[in-house]
Amino acid sequence: MKKEIYIFCPDCRGKFEVERTDITEGEILECSLCGAEIEVLQEQPIKIRLLSEDNEG
Ligand SMILES: [Zn+2]
Repeated sequence: MKKEIYIFCPDCRGKFEVERTDITEGEILECSLCGAEIEVLQEQPIKIRLLSEDNEG
């Protein structure tokens, strides 16, 4: 059984694979396509957000 799941990158809008065990709240994922850092906000259902170097609000 496959342990990888797909994440849609909020930055480049590409789809990349991560291991299911990497999806934990507070975990930082790196997009394998553009290198963007993506924070996991929630595991189930999966919510992510793009970590930006710019400080917004
Ligand atoms: Zn990306």
